[in-house]
Amino acid sequence: MYSFFESVERSFDKAAEFTKWDKGLLEQIKACNSIYSMRFPVKMDDGRIEVIEAYRVQHSQHKTPCKGGIRFSKEVNQDEVMALASLMTYKCAIVNVPFGGAKGGIKINPRNHSTYELEKITRRYTAELVKKNFIGPGIDVPAPDYGTGEREMAWIVDTYASLKPGEIDAAGCVTGKPITQGGVHGRKEATGLGVFFGVREVCNNETVMAKLGLSTGISGKKVVVQGLGNVGYHCAKFFRENGAIVIAIAEYEGAVYSEAGINEEELFKHRNATGSVKDFAGSTFIAKSAEALELDCDILIPAALENVIDGNNAPRIKAKIIGEAANGPLTPEADEVFIAKGTLVIPDMYLNAGGVTVSYFEWLKNLSHVRYGRLEKRFTESMNHHILTEIEILTGKQASTRARNLIEHGADEIDLVHSGLEETMISATQEIMDIWHANPAIPDMRTAAYVCAIDKVGISYAELGIFP
Ligand code: NAD
Repeated sequence: MYSFFESVERSFDKAAEFTKWDKGLLEQIKACNSIYSMRFPVKMDDGRIEVIEAYRVQHSQHKTPCKGGIRFSKEVNQDEVMALASLMTYKCAIVNVPFGGAKGGIKINPRNHSTYELEKITRRYTAELVKKNFIGPGIDVPAPDYGTGEREMAWIVDTYASLKPGEIDAAGCVTGKPITQGGVHGRKEATGLGVFFGVREVCNNETVMAKLGLSTGISGKKVVVQGLGNVGYHCAKFFRENGAIVIAIAEYEGAVYSEAGINEEELFKHRNATGSVKDFAGSTFIAKSAEALELDCDILIPAALENVIDGNNAPRIKAKIIGEAANGPLTPEADEVFIAKGTLVIPDMYLNAGGVTVSYFEWLKNLSHVRYGRLEKRFTESMNHHILTEIEILTGKQASTRARNLIEHGADEIDLVHSGLEETMISATQEIMDIWHANPAIPDMRTAAYVCAIDKVGISYAELGIFP
């Protein structure tokens, strides 16, 4: 059994054989550059002092700032944060986001803390990062991950800005913020939407789908989603809205199943109201949540945590396509099983890059101090209005109200963010597919994605002149 970081290294080494880079350079790309392991005391609501274990790992500064989420989980450890930081470097490279990889983690179960305690922990963690110069719009820019969201990002930016008075770009020290605190429209759903765009692009590829024995397109495909958090919820939503049938959703307390499809929003409300997915109307409850992964479906989306599919359960997985929405949900042993079975694994490293892509857009917005679309929206609308009116005069025909509204619409921030994300995911999918198909010896899409990442980071180092 490999640790998470060892699994990433193993996948890296497997792919490195298909690249031309010097061994020393490959070692440099693989290594975690800076590891900050910290302990700090926080006084809890009952007066007890708890020593909090936390980390920030900067895997690579080949491009700056570094970028990566912050995770709140009882399972956090240095190895995990190192693995996640490495994946961030490769992810950013694949989707052409000009950042190095980083990741943070605080070893707590957020469920066991009050909001006030979580705020104190988050603010103190941020202060520790400031003290060691591990955060800043040009240094290292955290984001949400498992167990964190907009609320925590708001605490981080507020703490940072208080400690750095007058820093004009302070809002760019963290992404995934609420809109009122400098966030960007579309960040919340970005990872799930990116997963959907990536899987859709693969499903539109006739050759790939014929090989899997599936019809092209998303419509009618049976999907199972693990995790009803930020990523899982939005994955389920976009698959359902685009005609797929989400037959099961798994949470840690169990899973719900229905051949007719599960509505994620209804389930989310039900879980909020009752504390569990159990007894959801029109569904069958599966007490052992992990069994949902083995249901008969076309597409399986693990969107919870790492190592949920290993050498043991991989042979029982029936899905033809696995879209890794979570980071590291498959072990290297599981990968081998799927290569042998002919199951297509769309790798985490690029498939869940929607979050960092839109984070990049948010960071750019913060540095430019202006909302996307603010300058050109009205201008575009007025120009389109004139063009359409002129066409109507020349042709003597009138556009329908629907067509007029569509053509005249000037882009809002959300339109531009979704469009930028779609373009990013489509180009990344095509780039990886091209690498894979150009070299038949490459065994799977994960290896092709690593080759893509290694080449881009390698070129970046070579361009710095460090490795001529
Ligand atoms: P989240 O905390 O919002 O949601 C995770 C959900 O998974 C929770 O509802 C949790 O109860 C559930 N869960 C935990 N263990 C489970 C189990 N064994 N079976 C079923 N469900 C389980 O976290 P998130 O932000 O949605 O992140 C999920 C995964 O996606 C993580 O691996 C994270 O690193 C990755 N990811 C997140 C983002 C992002 O933008 N949030 C970006 C890229 C990758």
